[in-house]
Amino acid sequence: MALKALDIYKLLPKKNCKECGDPTCLTFAMKLAGGKADVDLCPYLDEQAKTILGATTRPPIKLVKIGVGERSFAVGEEFVLYRHEKTFYHPPGILFKIGDDQPVDAIIAVTKRVKSEAFTRVGSDLQFNGIAVENASGSAETFARAVEIIENVADLPLVLISPDQAALSAALVHCGTYRPLIHAATATNFKEMCSLAKQHGCPLVLKAHGLAELEQLVKKCTAEGAQDLVLDPAPVSLNDFIMSSTAIRQLAITRSSPELGYPVYLDTTGDGTEDAMIALGIVKYAAVMVTSPLNQASAKASLTLRQNIYTDPQKPIQMNPGLYRVGNPDKNAPVLMTVNFSLTFFTLQGYLESSHIPCFMLIVDTEGLSVLTAVAAGKLSESLVRDAIKKFGVETEVGHRSLIIPGYASPLSGRIEEATGWKVLVGPRDAAEIGDFLHEEWEKRKERS
Ligand code: SF4
Repeated sequence: MALKALDIYKLLPKKNCKECGDPTCLTFAMKLAGGKADVDLCPYLDEQAKTILGATTRPPIKLVKIGVGERSFAVGEEFVLYRHEKTFYHPPGILFKIGDDQPVDAIIAVTKRVKSEAFTRVGSDLQFNGIAVENASGSAETFARAVEIIENVADLPLVLISPDQAALSAALVHCGTYRPLIHAATATNFKEMCSLAKQHGCPLVLKAHGLAELEQLVKKCTAEGAQDLVLDPAPVSLNDFIMSSTAIRQLAITRSSPELGYPVYLDTTGDGTEDAMIALGIVKYAAVMVTSPLNQASAKASLTLRQNIYTDPQKPIQMNPGLYRVGNPDKNAPVLMTVNFSLTFFTLQGYLESSHIPCFMLIVDTEGLSVLTAVAAGKLSESLVRDAIKKFGVETEVGHRSLIIPGYASPLSGRIEEATGWKVLVGPRDAAEIGDFLHEEWEKRKERS
């Protein structure tokens, strides 16, 4: 059970010394209650209080970092079972699996692809996270060579998959300082695997089928000193994965089984249902997912789904306010004002591009609200439009003084004209009609002037 701030405060030393970075013990207690601080920040806590507070205030699922540098990623530190309760914070890492018995060219090609391939969607570049190298050859030397080849091509997070400690040791010579994820410790080899993980400071996957077996393995591995763990429930089917992954998340966030408070691993290759496995892994709590090198359709679908699930449902995706160009607009080009809700922006931008009329999009800051909502909530106003025209230098970009506003903003047309001195044209409500509108209304207006 999570403790309330006041209960936590009672356990603190109450020195108000600020050494934890907070002005008072009470504010520190409030942060601990919200899972936003670590008990270790207070140097005056005795061991008993630390144990109690640590167990109740640390995030229920440990944050585990994989890789180092720009492409590293972190998983875990999730708090809810359902996204709409709050949000999911750390998107699963998706890594392409390749066997060390593959030709060198194939290993290099997959590595280069993961390094450079990116899909741009709603203003974000979506990428896969790294490479999972499998010791399919059974040879330590071949495994190490494959890892060395990958390391020479790109600095990407790695998963090293082998049951053989000697093979992993040989591979870690090339990547041990870059926090690869080691797969996997089992009931029979956990001592050797924990020792490797500790020696190189790497996160470690624990693999066991059944929650009781996983819990036992976690206890043994933490007793060996392994800290950064990832759980592989070794599912035998899609259904099996959903059942075990959901149970792990439930038991972890309710703190009913602290041993299960670690991110979950899923290998989607092998049983012919990879697309379904990936989709379910993303929505059902997989944190590290190993897939085959996906074809373009599956790749885009996976990254799109991941982006959608891991956006905060309480915060609309926003564009930066500003003046955006569509094509190469000149001084006579139309200026269309709209809001900074990203879906509105990209929908309108798409229709404008297909109209083949170069133009400017003036994006005003409505805190990510759509036009209709922004008008209703008073977030879209004549002063906002006036200030945006000035701030983004629209008057120097065009020689005319005409502004097209969205159809749903028509109640503001008069006030915008008064505040800006610009002639306002009310555009269509449906962005799909903007092409026809520009061809008819804007072109006609040009002919008249
Ligand atoms: Fe209080 Fe400990 Fe923070 Fe000092 S370091 S203010 S004693 S919580």
